[in-house]
Amino acid sequence: MEEHKQEESMKHLGEEEGEEESVSESVRDLPSDAVKELLSEGVCARCIFRLFGLQGRVYASSPSLSSVSSLSATTHQLCTLCFGILQFTYYSDDTQTLLQNQNLPLLIADTVKRHAYQFHTFSLEVSIPPIILSNDNSLRSYMKTKFGSQSWFQENLHTGCISTKDALKFSLIYPLENLLECKSSMGPFRIRLTYTHTKASKGDQNRSDSAETCKRRKIEIPVGNSLENDSSDGCEFLLEKANEPCHFTFYCYRTPFYFGGRYLKYSRNVSQTCWIIDDERMGEASVEEIIGGKILQACQGDSFKFHAAGREDIDVRMLGPGRPFLVEVQNARHIPSELFVKDVERKINNMENKLVRVKNLKLVGSEGWDLMREGEAEKQKQYAALVWISRPLKDEDFQCISSHKDLKVLQRTPIRVLHRRSPLEREKIIHWMKIEAIAGSSQYFLLHLCTQAGTYIKEFVHGDLGRTHPSIGSILGCRAEILQLDVTDIKMECFLT
Ligand SMILES: [Zn+2]
Repeated sequence: MEEHKQEESMKHLGEEEGEEESVSESVRDLPSDAVKELLSEGVCARCIFRLFGLQGRVYASSPSLSSVSSLSATTHQLCTLCFGILQFTYYSDDTQTLLQNQNLPLLIADTVKRHAYQFHTFSLEVSIPPIILSNDNSLRSYMKTKFGSQSWFQENLHTGCISTKDALKFSLIYPLENLLECKSSMGPFRIRLTYTHTKASKGDQNRSDSAETCKRRKIEIPVGNSLENDSSDGCEFLLEKANEPCHFTFYCYRTPFYFGGRYLKYSRNVSQTCWIIDDERMGEASVEEIIGGKILQACQGDSFKFHAAGREDIDVRMLGPGRPFLVEVQNARHIPSELFVKDVERKINNMENKLVRVKNLKLVGSEGWDLMREGEAEKQKQYAALVWISRPLKDEDFQCISSHKDLKVLQRTPIRVLHRRSPLEREKIIHWMKIEAIAGSSQYFLLHLCTQAGTYIKEFVHGDLGRTHPSIGSILGCRAEILQLDVTDIKMECFLT
């Protein structure tokens, strides 16, 4: 959010009328003795702008201070303050070369275009090494010692220097807005610039090539009164001459898209997630791959994650209104429109094998994940089971089964899942049950039942050698086996409307 506000204010500043004039005016107004001093210390033009608190477009043009100083030739040296960041000079890890005074906006724009992202806005994320902050702090103390008594210092420098990070954004945002033909604002499309330096921070002799290590180190920020102790000779503030530019890389990415919906599974040979045991696939396909794969392909993303609210066994069909799911697509090149989402849904539903269908596919925010997790814990599920019993069905069985309302069942962890679940005893509730006869068959029937989520249905039918009690077998006083099972309804609000 912080970053967002900053960018907004930057944009605002840039859009002010008469910006060009005020830029050159404000550069002219800089105190020339101080500017000369800084240039002679090897500070680059953009760093001088930011030290004096200038904002906006002044950074975007190729900066020159010739109007204030004849020493502008020094801008070709590596800046002692930003180590080349604001001069667009850096060591490229990709090409293993030192690149000087690059046209960074153009390089970035070319890369972005090459990756063929669709986007309406972009936002810059900048990470710079702690040594740069530490340089800024040293310089500020120096400036205070050297020019603290002058009125321009008291007026300007106290109102605040612009950080290297913000100055870099000022330098890039305006040209990038032109090159990419869209505005900069906080949105899902990000361009990430990462600068690192082999010196973690000033005075730290430990060399570190990793930005991570730099991050973990505490940066000491000098506080007001410590400055009084600085030597008044003034030149010791830094500037151990910078001899190494920062390492620089950049990439662009999009924050994830989330697709929510419900799926139906018509096959007893399709697992919910890709299921491979000893290099061998279980079942002919998975819901995850069918739905996620199609969505990923359509969005041209890098990868996807599939989350479902609960799961059914591979041999259990998922019918009725379907089971809620969420697909998270990483780094999509395409922005899915509403029409696009409908098209993806149609593509999945028109697949030849008809193993899986989706309903109500739509884009949801990242809150979809919470919605689904809440929904998962909740509520009731309905099933239809094809049951065989060891004796012919009797008339009174119908009444007997449907007379049970909110029946409490104790389930010890089923034998079939004991190898991966800890042994526990859970109480579950069977809300209602009903037998549907199958014409011409006396020992087979359909059992419709509505249970608390998490009930082991197969075990409730056959009793799992007494580990589930009561069971259909114990209630009817005979052996009961389950031949087929379908989920017919999941009562959950999310992704339904
Ligand atoms: Zn600089």
